[in-house]
Amino acid sequence: MRICPWLAVIVVVAIPLRGHAYEVKKSSTGAALHWEEAPELVLALAPDERTAATAAIATWNVGLAGTALALSSIDAGRDAVVTDGGDATNTVRWGDREDDPDLERGVLGLTFLSYATSTGEIRDADIVLNARNFAWTVDPSECTNEYDLQSALTHELGHLLGLAHSLGHHEAVMFATSDACETTKRTLAGDDRAGLDALYRTETTTTTDDGGCAAGGSPGIAMLLVALAGRRRRRAIVAGVVAVALGLVHPPGADAARLRHLAIAELAADAAVVVHGTVIATIARRDGGALVTDTLLAVERCAGERARCRDGLVVVRSRGGELGDEGLYVDAEARLALGAEIVVFLRADPRGRLRVLGGVQGQFDIVRRDGAVHAVRDLRGHDVLAHEAWDHGEREVVPASALGL
Ligand SMILES: [Zn+2]
Repeated sequence: MRICPWLAVIVVVAIPLRGHAYEVKKSSTGAALHWEEAPELVLALAPDERTAATAAIATWNVGLAGTALALSSIDAGRDAVVTDGGDATNTVRWGDREDDPDLERGVLGLTFLSYATSTGEIRDADIVLNARNFAWTVDPSECTNEYDLQSALTHELGHLLGLAHSLGHHEAVMFATSDACETTKRTLAGDDRAGLDALYRTETTTTTDDGGCAAGGSPGIAMLLVALAGRRRRRAIVAGVVAVALGLVHPPGADAARLRHLAIAELAADAAVVVHGTVIATIARRDGGALVTDTLLAVERCAGERARCRDGLVVVRSRGGELGDEGLYVDAEARLALGAEIVVFLRADPRGRLRVLGGVQGQFDIVRRDGAVHAVRDLRGHDVLAHEAWDHGEREVVPASALGL
């Protein structure tokens, strides 16, 4: 069937618009993640970095003025030993060691949010900035290819407060794009304040002055609208048609990682094993103090260290998950849904457990249609850094045979 591209445009613009672009993170019960008690952040940073962090904190506190919430911080020093995930101490730290378990290749920063599944109340949050794979600066006036710490922390603090990416509002701190040397994310836009209002202001009054930035009803649609307005219009239309034709349009999520795009060849070179299989079970459990999820794959094909696919089963460990009323949300982690047919590029962590390489980037969903087998990498909603074709995150659709299995 031949699909007219303009038909896709008509379908997109016919969807009702709403007055904001921000998204909030939610638990599996649908509860918005939010703080009830004002969090204190422990900053494991050098003095000039701490200045950048306190400026970022002050920016959000202006937006929170008049609510019951305000962020505060204490100084722990650059060399403080802090841990991530569920220890009830909210930390901001650098990750620069090769063996750091909370760094992921190609991921600029990770925010961990521990919450109550039933109410969405956040109980612990930790931010890890990747200094192993990225260069940083506190003085963007001298910047050539570094990331501005104050901008990056302002953005990550938005995630810490419960916001996901804002996909239709270019000026927003939470807009899903970022480049080296960029400083626009130091200042809140109306859309960011509208997100704060939704989470923390019980009155119906709003502080926003430009919260009318319109976007569609889902990140996918919002991104298509953004792309239609820009120079990638033709590619966006084609991508939209391909997505519709493959039946890939589904409800919005709230994923929100900042990623350097990893090519398939790069994934293949670094993976210990590549597995094509079906998810037959997921089990949330505790590993030390932190929640993790183990996913059981029934293996169809296996490349690399084939001994790991013995018995036709592979267990993949992910950070985060939900167990009873406790949840842990980790941006950038792959989301392996029960029943899904997938190809995953896997690395072995220092304890020998298999993890998806590059987080969400190492996961491809297999879609069969009209006798062809497609592999789909879904990076919608993620910041994909400085990559000409991936500004706002997209779906990458390739023949499954391109994955080398
Ligand atoms: Zn983000």
